[in-house]
Amino acid sequence: MPGGTDQTLRPFLWRAANLYSDTEIVSRNHDGMQRYTYSEYEQRTSQLANALDEHGIEEGDRVGTFCWNHSRHFETYFGVPSIGAQLHTINPLLPDAHIQYIVDNADDQLIFVDHSLAPKLASAVADADDEFEGVDFVVMGSEESEHLEATPYESFIEGQETEYDWPDIDEEQPAGMCYTSGTTGNPKGVEYTQQMLWSHTMATLTPQGIPMADDDVVMPVVPMFHVNAWGMPFTATAGGSKHVYPGPSPEPEDIANLIENEGVTISAGVPTVWLGLMEYCSEHDVDLSTLETVIVGGSAAPKSMIEWFDDQGVEVLHAWGMTEMSPIGSVSHLKSDLRDADYETQLEKRGKQGLMVPGLEFKVIDENGEEIAWDGEEFGELWIRGPWVTKEYFKRPEANEADFEDGWLKTGDVVTVDEDGYIQIVDREKDVIKSGGEWISSVELENAVMAHDDVSEAAVVGVPHERWQERPVAFVVPGEGVERETLVSEITEMLKDDYPKWWLPDEIEFIEEVPKTATGKFSKKDIREEYADQSLVEGQVPEDAAPDQD
Ligand code: ADP
Repeated sequence: MPGGTDQTLRPFLWRAANLYSDTEIVSRNHDGMQRYTYSEYEQRTSQLANALDEHGIEEGDRVGTFCWNHSRHFETYFGVPSIGAQLHTINPLLPDAHIQYIVDNADDQLIFVDHSLAPKLASAVADADDEFEGVDFVVMGSEESEHLEATPYESFIEGQETEYDWPDIDEEQPAGMCYTSGTTGNPKGVEYTQQMLWSHTMATLTPQGIPMADDDVVMPVVPMFHVNAWGMPFTATAGGSKHVYPGPSPEPEDIANLIENEGVTISAGVPTVWLGLMEYCSEHDVDLSTLETVIVGGSAAPKSMIEWFDDQGVEVLHAWGMTEMSPIGSVSHLKSDLRDADYETQLEKRGKQGLMVPGLEFKVIDENGEEIAWDGEEFGELWIRGPWVTKEYFKRPEANEADFEDGWLKTGDVVTVDEDGYIQIVDREKDVIKSGGEWISSVELENAVMAHDDVSEAAVVGVPHERWQERPVAFVVPGEGVERETLVSEITEMLKDDYPKWWLPDEIEFIEEVPKTATGKFSKKDIREEYADQSLVEGQVPEDAAPDQD
């Protein structure tokens, strides 16, 4: 039943604007630092809502963003869903073909784009068929873009009323949307209803989640195009915290400066981000004394990282989640009876993906379809359900059939569960590679490589990497009498045309045959085992392979 106090996002904004009207939102924007209060935030968000109305955006319409983490992007976080429209955050690091598909599939009406990302979006638009037909653009700043015909954001909201008569919105109304890259085929859309975002926010506010309060200064480094920066902008607002946004492509130096200058207490990001900060701190004098908690997720947190932060007096909370789950699932808090355990035991628990947050249920199913014992040894696929777990993919019936069963989401993560209930990811069923927190589809890459006439077979696997966690390596069976160097450079050139630099395999190895399973499929497991000693080390990957460079 619709009603003002249903499980919707708007009351979080109301509370922050009224109880913490002077608390700040600080942002490293492309046009300089922006600093204002929740009270001004609410006014600008109201202006945005009025501008969206004037532009013709209606309840149920989808509005895209193609942006880094900054205050204007944050304005869309409440402004778009609170008029009943749907905020679709688009990952700008994806290959152009994926971006075209996503915009078309979501039927976005309007896209907010950063100045620094306008060239990338313009290239996807230029190559498109009709995917962008009827889409308007707003560029995040005061000036026009040289690359796209777009209204500057400040002109878009200028002159609009600073108040808005927010409608009552049904909690089942979709409020957000994010696409996740799968093994094969196009990315899959996940819709977040008002209720899903509300319940995710409330669960993460509990002590077993990632609590944020009015004395916290919260800096999401995890991009806002990644599952709403793991929900942090909503959680921080609900808690009345100060927000700090690190802006376009933040470097370790920017992150260090913001922690020092703004007194950040909680921050979150993938391991690659923290490895960068650790390295920076080893060469510079950085004051981390305000920092209390660092959330590490997206890929496994190395134990050495947890120890390093312990030495700085900073608690690492290792979190696991998925786009399909808004995204938080588990957090590695220590149970109270482990607080007196020795450091090694504690470290072992904290290095696992943790305990499910209140509100979720899970089970782990082995290859015989049986539930595993919680002994830390048996393993199986993690299935999960709960109020903020999606029940389907957007317009993808075939993916629904494969990934959901009896109301459970089949995560594709292979886990053990120990006697204390801590889950640990030990493998992944999905054939994808996660580099610096971003997905690369190995199947898509190998199909692209096999499109070369001189390649008879190719398999792409993820190889462990110190800094990026995983990097792709291609194993290629060449045709008869093919000259190696020519083939490698031709494959590389071919891939460059269709994929961003950070998707390109770090190495192309020649093999005689791709190992197969009994059913004739490529056995990636055998390739990984056979070439396990090929673990890549820092220095082998060109700096510009970083996911934020392209
Ligand atoms: P996000 O990266 O924001 O968590 P994605 O949907 O892109 O969300 O990726 C989800 C997948 O990432 C999980 O299914 C799992 O394979 C992997 N993952 C997420 N968190 C962790 C973690 N803490 N440790 C290991 N793998 C993780």
